[in-house]
Amino acid sequence: MNFIQANNSKKICDIDLTQFNDYSNRYTTLKRSTLLKFLFQNIPQEKINFNSNITKVDNSNGIRISFGDNKNEEFDYLIISDGIFSKTRSFIFTESIYPKYNLNVALRGKLKGDYGNDISIYMGSNSHYVIYPVNQNNEHNFVAIIKKKLSSDELKNYGLFKSEEFLNSLLSGLQNSQISLKNLSELKSFPVHVSSDFPSLNKKNVFLSGDALFTFPPSFAQGASQSIETANDILKSILNGTNEFYQERIRSISSINNKSKFNHFSFHLSNPINIFIRNKILKYLSKNKIFLENYLGKIYRA
Ligand SMILES: Cc1cc2nc3c(=O)[nH]c(=O)nc-3n(C[C@H](O)[C@H](O)[C@H](O)COP(=O)(O)OP(=O)(O)OC[C@H]3O[C@@H](n4cnc5c(N)ncnc54)[C@H](O)[C@@H]3O)c2cc1C
Repeated sequence: MNFIQANNSKKICDIDLTQFNDYSNRYTTLKRSTLLKFLFQNIPQEKINFNSNITKVDNSNGIRISFGDNKNEEFDYLIISDGIFSKTRSFIFTESIYPKYNLNVALRGKLKGDYGNDISIYMGSNSHYVIYPVNQNNEHNFVAIIKKKLSSDELKNYGLFKSEEFLNSLLSGLQNSQISLKNLSELKSFPVHVSSDFPSLNKKNVFLSGDALFTFPPSFAQGASQSIETANDILKSILNGTNEFYQERIRSISSINNKSKFNHFSFHLSNPINIFIRNKILKYLSKNKIFLENYLGKIYRA
């Protein structure tokens, strides 16, 4: 993983992520669709109820779910995993845990060109962008996070995020970027929302997973991984009859959230003196085994 200063394209340092690999676990990057295909292969289709709509959840005595077609059913457990704006969550939890706009816009797309096999993080003033391979056919993803104040009307205006003018203004805001619109396809932008609080854990037999549980700032590439690891901890909690694993996961998510916020802060520095100091520290820490084990190893090996 390369760290590059965006305004002069100079590489500051790199971290060899293969040091966290072992025989059966390897750090990898891939397309979201590849991951979904892999996960779907393991779920028998007859276990999935397509085109079904939950209209009410009553968890006062057991779990009773009403569906759009006036059907009611009782369940032993409810695992809510319908993403950042989870509708199912809103039937049970109050709005205080809903993710809020964190004053940044994400821009993502497919990138054409030869960018090698590394993950490269370009750190600019109030922005950063990442280029990473999604397979071994020289296909890459581009994801930029750009600070942007938006009014509540702008946030609701879906057309704004699709407009070419807005996409161009985001791209041109990236310092010294070698990336141009013509190299990018399937470009999308959207406001970044993050959680600030966890839901109450004392709802019997109700679990949340993934972004419905907690949404991180996208500066540690851990959202999808934590969704999967939380799902595994929910299963262990159910089999064990205790909330222990689920609660432990919430502690790790809290720690990852702090690291994500710290990454975001240091990637977006704009004062030249602060940038100089950051680069020196980063150079030192990127080769410090104890720091790397604590900051990354504990998460990647979990
Ligand atoms: C810019 C950006 C970059 C990111 N980069 C990374 C990265 O590099 N690595 C990483 O690990 N994470 C990354 N993440 C985070 C990651 O995308 C999310 O954390 C992850 O997708 C969360 O998974 P999820 O299953 O909880 O939610 P989602 O992926 O949002 O899936 C929720 C699913 O529920 C479905 N759904 C919604 N409502 C209903 C309903 N009522 N009934 C049935 N189904 C419903 C949706 O259609 C969707 O398929 C990034 C996020 C952002 C914003």
